[in-house]
Amino acid sequence: MLVALNEADELVTLRSHEQAKGLSGQRFRCPACRGELRIKNGAQLIAHFAHKDNACKTSSEPESETHLAGKWWLAKFGAQIGETVTLETYYPEIQQRADVVWEHQGRQRILEFQCSGISPERIKARTDGYQSLNLEVIWIAGPQYLTRWPGSKQARFLRWGKDMGFHLWQLDPAKQAMTLLQLTSQAIVETEYRQGLPTRRQTRVYVEPLASRAKAIQAALVHRAPAVMQLQARASGQGLNLAGAPWLMHQALRHLPGLDAPEWAIRAAWLLRFQHQPIEKAAEAAFWQQYSSVRAPQLPEGLLQAAVRRQWLAVLTTGGYLQESATGWQWRRVPRWYDTVDEKLQALGQAGLS
Ligand SMILES: [Zn+2]
Repeated sequence: MLVALNEADELVTLRSHEQAKGLSGQRFRCPACRGELRIKNGAQLIAHFAHKDNACKTSSEPESETHLAGKWWLAKFGAQIGETVTLETYYPEIQQRADVVWEHQGRQRILEFQCSGISPERIKARTDGYQSLNLEVIWIAGPQYLTRWPGSKQARFLRWGKDMGFHLWQLDPAKQAMTLLQLTSQAIVETEYRQGLPTRRQTRVYVEPLASRAKAIQAALVHRAPAVMQLQARASGQGLNLAGAPWLMHQALRHLPGLDAPEWAIRAAWLLRFQHQPIEKAAEAAFWQQYSSVRAPQLPEGLLQAAVRRQWLAVLTTGGYLQESATGWQWRRVPRWYDTVDEKLQALGQAGLS
């Protein structure tokens, strides 16, 4: 912690080793639980307060050097972009202590910098707490979550906004950089911010080679991964081999994490359900209800499914496979399944897609 109450019940923010030295001998208490605090002022770590005995439950995580450094980074960056910054504001109504609060023209934003492990359920509970006070909270993923390719581990940080679309924030205090990942329907767009003026860096497009995606399914079959074996059982019921599933399963993925199954597996299940018949609207809508987005607790239920579905239907219609009708969709041609992964890879080479 960086903020404590002194004996006169005033809030004191620890800003430097020198200040901490000057305060030694005074008594401090936690603004949230009123427990006694001591000053930690070692040579290596950032000066901070620590509870003498009890662990305080008002923060989303135990204190660490990375967490302290991240809070200071966000405080300095916020001040540079014109925000009024407060560290560790305590909200007694909900018994939550925010890491950093930015305020600009009456608009408050809570920043929670998450370094330790946290479950989607706990993120949801704390987000609900802030929302009950009409406060916007932005969760920022710490070093253990950093990636350029968000998966189910990162889905808990996934947000959606009108202007920004699907996105998530990451901060690495060691690199002194905060990154915004926007998951658009064409690409993952990374923007890096450093202290000083915010700088928009290059747009990166991350695409896995198609061949490696097909091989990954083959590997999952060899390892008999339960979800994949279930799909394989459904495929072989129709005389098909999952390892030879159509290339469409891997093309133009939406790359949104947080649903119960990988996007390719959802597409494969969809094909196995619908590829032999005209598609009724109600049945197609019902298909998507089997997937939940509890791993992405900051999104309203249904939003992820809708985005993944929209992209898949676009792949099928623009590719000339499906045609919309009054009651749903008609097949114009059915995507080709291959007998084996080798045959599938060979077709890729012939099409010059690899
Ligand atoms: Zn406390």
